[in-house]
Amino acid sequence: MTKMRNIVVLGGGPCGLSAAWELSENGYDVTVLEKDSGVGGLCITHEYQGYRFDLGGHRFVSPNKGFVDRVCRMMGDELLTAERKSVILLNGKTFQYPLSARDLFAKIGFRTGIMAFFSFMKEAVIAVFLRKKEVSFYDWVTHRFGRILYDLFFGPYTEKVWGISPKLISSDWASQRIALLNLSDVCLRLSGLKEDTPRTYARTYFYPRKGIGQIFEVMAKVVRQNGGRIVTHADVSGVEVCGGTVKKIRYMHHGFLREIDCDGVISTMPLPDLIHALPEHLVRDILPDARGLRYRAIRFMNMLVGRSDISDNTWMYVAEKKYVMTRIQEPRRRSPFNAPDGKTSLMLEMPCDVNDDLWNYGDEELLARCLTDLCELGINVRDDVTGYFTSRVTHGYPVYSLDYRSHQGRLLNFLDQFDNLITCGRQGAFRYIFMDTAMEMGIAAARHIVSERHYEKGQIQDMRSGAGLLEKDFISVSR
Ligand SMILES: Cc1cc2nc3c(=O)[nH]c(=O)nc-3n(C[C@H](O)[C@H](O)[C@H](O)COP(=O)(O)OP(=O)(O)OC[C@H]3O[C@@H](n4cnc5c(N)ncnc54)[C@H](O)[C@@H]3O)c2cc1C
Repeated sequence: MTKMRNIVVLGGGPCGLSAAWELSENGYDVTVLEKDSGVGGLCITHEYQGYRFDLGGHRFVSPNKGFVDRVCRMMGDELLTAERKSVILLNGKTFQYPLSARDLFAKIGFRTGIMAFFSFMKEAVIAVFLRKKEVSFYDWVTHRFGRILYDLFFGPYTEKVWGISPKLISSDWASQRIALLNLSDVCLRLSGLKEDTPRTYARTYFYPRKGIGQIFEVMAKVVRQNGGRIVTHADVSGVEVCGGTVKKIRYMHHGFLREIDCDGVISTMPLPDLIHALPEHLVRDILPDARGLRYRAIRFMNMLVGRSDISDNTWMYVAEKKYVMTRIQEPRRRSPFNAPDGKTSLMLEMPCDVNDDLWNYGDEELLARCLTDLCELGINVRDDVTGYFTSRVTHGYPVYSLDYRSHQGRLLNFLDQFDNLITCGRQGAFRYIFMDTAMEMGIAAARHIVSERHYEKGQIQDMRSGAGLLEKDFISVSR
């Protein structure tokens, strides 16, 4: 087989850029096509009047030491470390998150506490003796926490995030998102006898001085220095194939249709969009699967606040349905450089669907609603807001509906017929993964192309961060 030299990467988010980083360091001719005006994807940081806002506050955490060292070397002095402190605001009270047994039972009241304990024990017994299958998010959480805690925290919050009943969400989401391992683990954690270890519990994290997007601005600079090209405003619309090989990529660029030849393609654009970009006669039979995969959108309210401080929390979770937001964040908790000296800011996350009421709400009306909700939650900034803007993302969360796996599986199997195409990343593999796993997937995809390291495509798409696939490679190639 002749060596692939000219690789086109679709999407300039963490996965696509990391792939380009790895390829360009190995002497490949790489072009990244990114639809947006800047790189970073969901990890972009917007600057506004001296303030910086991520699309929902991000943090960089990875169990893969070799990988973290490599990112730290690339970032030099620009990476700060910060401590995470999160709370849940509920019924006028503030609960620690992750849940702590002492804090929880002190605040929910004696009667609810006893009921929660017995419902937890009931589920523990059922889990041990009946071994019921966990199909939905509802099953997964009630088996581990009991019905009372489900009704109090997990059910309402999850329904707000996804916009559908937790009984219709696959248990895969819970098992990937809520990093608790089994019942005894839960008991030990809730009683404070076990230290916090999984990702959800990580207390310290890395964060760049100028917002999470700085990682990808630096990475893009390295790719360019290595001779790679990054084309922004490049909206990929067509993939031309001949037999089992992708030959050309077509994209719209400032109103013009352009095309680029390729020896290989790494796609990180949404999986259904990639299917739609292929010739119609090839994809006709699998279009129902592409339509079966849905993403949840998010709208953000970013507020400039003329005071120095609001709280010491990294994340404040808001589960109650009557409030418009699911999370409240103060960006300067991550980096003091996210706001000018003596000032702070607030960012509110509001999951929605593209074109629903929340998505289309006027900016001013939405600001008024957010300020009222914040006030009720005990955060009164009405007289201190000096400016604001809202932002939106269409592909915030891949929706793990009960049947998502069959659609995802059929689409990935279909794409396997193209020998020089790999689809990966959060959107490309349709997996609820974090930035570090997306970056490692991009690097693994690049190594699949760089001759000597051959990971199976499925192995790349199934990657979990720190799973060991790359660990030794990172150490041996550390630059
Ligand atoms: C609210 C929120 C908070 C998060 N917090 C954290 C956190 O604290 N820590 C963490 O590790 N992760 C976090 N994540 C997850 C993290 O953002 C993702 O895992 C990561 O961005 C995935 O990278 P990706 O490159 O796979 O996808 P994306 O970031 O979505 O990048 C895909 C890119 O493809 C581009 N694209 C799409 N269609 C086309 C097209 N047709 N043509 C060309 N380009 C196209 C997009 O514009 C985008 O730039 C969070 C996510 C959200 C939504």
